[in-house]
Amino acid sequence: MSLPLPSNFVSCPGLFYPTSARDGILSRIRIPGGIITSQQLRAIANLADKFGNGSINITNRANIQLREITRDIPADVLALLQEIGLAARLPELDHLRNIMGSPTAGIDHSELIDTRPLMRELEYQMMAHADLVELSPKFSVCFDGGGSVSVATQANDIALIAVFIAGEVYFRLKLRVNADMDASYPFLDTGVILKPEESVSVVVGLAKVYLQNLLKNKSQNQSSISLNLYRKSHQPRLRDILDELGVAQFIQEVEFYLNRRLRRISLENNQDFQNHQTHQNHYLHLDIHHQKQKGFAYIGIVTPLGKLETKQIYELANIAQTHGDGTLRLTPWQNLIISDIPIQYIQEVSSKIRHLKLDYSVNNIYSALVACTGNAGCASSATDTKSHAVLLAEYLNRRITLPTPVNIHFTGCPKSCAQAAKGDITLLGMIREQEGGYQVYLGKGDNRFGRMIYDFLPFVEIPALLEKILLVYMAKSTYLNESFADFVNRYSLKQLQSMFE
Ligand code: SF4
Repeated sequence: MSLPLPSNFVSCPGLFYPTSARDGILSRIRIPGGIITSQQLRAIANLADKFGNGSINITNRANIQLREITRDIPADVLALLQEIGLAARLPELDHLRNIMGSPTAGIDHSELIDTRPLMRELEYQMMAHADLVELSPKFSVCFDGGGSVSVATQANDIALIAVFIAGEVYFRLKLRVNADMDASYPFLDTGVILKPEESVSVVVGLAKVYLQNLLKNKSQNQSSISLNLYRKSHQPRLRDILDELGVAQFIQEVEFYLNRRLRRISLENNQDFQNHQTHQNHYLHLDIHHQKQKGFAYIGIVTPLGKLETKQIYELANIAQTHGDGTLRLTPWQNLIISDIPIQYIQEVSSKIRHLKLDYSVNNIYSALVACTGNAGCASSATDTKSHAVLLAEYLNRRITLPTPVNIHFTGCPKSCAQAAKGDITLLGMIREQEGGYQVYLGKGDNRFGRMIYDFLPFVEIPALLEKILLVYMAKSTYLNESFADFVNRYSLKQLQSMFE
């Protein structure tokens, strides 16, 4: 059963709004905060077996995508999914973006606050407001609890980032703005700080004021808002509204809506925030780690390119139910975590995971390898990114053991669906003289993908080149744990090219 598309629908499918792709129908299931129960996961595996291609994909917002669906999912099945909390009660809201949070919320030693109750509350509030259907389907929010596995730099319209100020936990309110789109940390700090208990109502206030301005724009038929080149949506994003109004004016309108003034802090001397920024390493979600709950551990599992076969899914659901707390956590890096495992069962769990042909080591190239759908499923793609990523991972895993993950991102076009942030190495698919190949970018740089080092290479040259690049990095990085981006950014392009020849 499919519903008529909402007026603002673009390319963000939900369960009730499946969309066509080159490889069949595509459907997306929202998993708020990426936290899913074993029962829910089994239901999704069942769906993938009955209607899809017998596999699922974890997305970079910790949603689940079903691909190659060949027939309509019947209304009674959708009702069952609503019953078990996998589909929105109000179908018209089902396409809204997942709320993002740190996948180690509540189990991380160093977090300042467990954000899970806040994510649940926000999800409940948003799903209760039918008028939010008019929001851009890309309206996105994240809660970062200030722990070691941070989502603070993930692409979101609104980021609430926990900090410690004068002995109390607050959330800093950051908003994404167009002017900073190419920066590695693309948010503007509003200077507003929120107590945890007021954070959800303020996010609802931000959504409502955004909505009011959308409707105002619609009624005035304004066309002055500039839209980003890579977006197909004609629905202005929150950042377009912020451009138009100015952040200060927008916050004032939120205060008017909430009927109270929001607390602000000087943006100078914000040492708390600076400290938080320098200590994050999101790859700590992989491998085995002690939890803050004594005697328990979590295991972060590498999910190659976000894909799992249903036979793996059923077994993972069983492991979480038998040895964990019956939930699994999907990560925005397209991996997953099983938590709350008593230490004495860790060996047993890890051997069951290996038995499923899955790994949990950060040294595995797949741990930080990302690829968009590619030309097998997307007409916009210049190359077969997924197959190329698999070939690259197999090649490198046989030859190299990295000391620390290096993020390699294959994207079939500049839209960059699979990863919004800059990668350590980005391979941008393109066609030259009817041949598919890749532009190669490294590190930070001012281009949205980093610094371009090679203008066009056919895929056959990529595995050996990347092997060379990674070997040079391992040989020449000057201090322990120097990141790949820090390493390449120390050199000019000419120096890098001569090192890699
Ligand atoms: S990044 Fe481009 S090619 Fe890849 S899935 Fe998105 S639209 Fe398609």
